[in-house]
Amino acid sequence: MSGIKKSCDVVVVGAGIVGCSVAHALVGKGLTVVLTDAGAVGGGTTSASFSWVNATSKVNDEPYFYFNAEGVRLYHDMVEEWGPKLTGIHQTGVIAWSSANDTARTKELRQNAKLLNRWDYPAVWVDHKDLAQLEPKISFEDSAQGYFVENDCWIDVDLFLQFLTRQLHQAGAQIMEYCPALELIATEEGKVLGVETTQGRVSCGSLVLATGVHSPQVLSQITGHEGFASRFPLQQAPGLLVLTPPGGPALVHRVIYSSDSSGLHMRDAGQGRLLLAADDTDGLVSENGSVDTATQAAKLLLERTKQLISECKGVESIEQCQIKVGVRGVPNDGRSIAGPALSADGLYLAITHSGVTLAPIIGQLIASCVETGVVPEQLVPFSLDRFDTFI
Ligand SMILES: Cc1cc2nc3c(=O)[nH]c(=O)nc-3n(C[C@H](O)[C@H](O)[C@H](O)COP(=O)(O)OP(=O)(O)OC[C@H]3O[C@@H](n4cnc5c(N)ncnc54)[C@H](O)[C@@H]3O)c2cc1C
Repeated sequence: MSGIKKSCDVVVVGAGIVGCSVAHALVGKGLTVVLTDAGAVGGGTTSASFSWVNATSKVNDEPYFYFNAEGVRLYHDMVEEWGPKLTGIHQTGVIAWSSANDTARTKELRQNAKLLNRWDYPAVWVDHKDLAQLEPKISFEDSAQGYFVENDCWIDVDLFLQFLTRQLHQAGAQIMEYCPALELIATEEGKVLGVETTQGRVSCGSLVLATGVHSPQVLSQITGHEGFASRFPLQQAPGLLVLTPPGGPALVHRVIYSSDSSGLHMRDAGQGRLLLAADDTDGLVSENGSVDTATQAAKLLLERTKQLISECKGVESIEQCQIKVGVRGVPNDGRSIAGPALSADGLYLAITHSGVTLAPIIGQLIASCVETGVVPEQLVPFSLDRFDTFI
């Protein structure tokens, strides 16, 4: 393949929130970086994310919980250093509640709150009066009780990526959009030498693959090993988001996880808009599914929200809302795949669900791995070789 030849220490393939964060951490270590994407920066799954930065929902897996809590901590550090406006990080916390009549859900919330407190991630138990103070526009049942976790945040992904890419440009990194990686160049012994792209070859000592849900196919294509596409332990999990139209002041202040058994959740999205999602409607949509199915599921989300927030009744039809379907890449055991790939020396993987929460911590740890050649202790549980098919 002819074309412009470039050279750098590290190529990062995939400029979603994970790839941008990895690149940001690498330039922070003084390494030269080329970041390349098949499309536009942030145009993949990252553009269709609820973007709740949290460890609260990870209490069923202690090591993974702490990994996420580190991600959350790094976002708070960024706000401290750069401020909320520049970074788009909203330090709002989350509330989750149930009606006292729903004994099973109340028990679950109490157990979760206990664990969060034990793991130094404070959860304050709140009753109807506290909830009404925290969220005056929500109609809570009289018996409502639950928890408020202040640590959680949500981020404005567009602003956050603008912040990262500005810093990358300032540090001299090159960002190549609409430039898919085509082929990994390596020695016969498997040492990474570079990557062929549609805009020419980029020589490098290391390559980090952060191509999200597309990773099995990309790995297969760039290495020529079909096994990656057929055996890579990653599942696709579509999700539905509904963005209500602009209105008056914000309707909610925190990330809201309702008592609704559907797992309805929402957050402010600026200009009085709400971003809505639910665990059950995710199961109703697919990437290439019919528009009708997505619209029906979106209607359901809007109706449920109107029951909770009467001021939302002003949104008369779903046609006034924006509907998005995003596809998550979820490793088979629900954890991340982050660290050296087994097949080539200098090839690293950064593939995860909860990628918004985990991007900063995965970025830092992968950068440390690339710089020193040593896998940090925190990454050990997330290596690809835990999956039998890849040993
Ligand atoms: C509905 C929904 C809600 C979610 N909510 C949350 C949440 O609340 N909190 C949370 O933490 N996470 C959430 N997630 C998950 C999170 O959004 C993802 O984990 C994260 O966005 C993944 O980022 P990424 O950078 O790995 O992937 P992507 O954003 O998909 O980026 C990968 C990039 O690789 C590029 N690419 C593909 N092939 C090539 C190639 N050959 N060469 C170069 N580039 C290539 C693509 O163009 C793409 O830009 C949600 C996801 C969905 C779908």
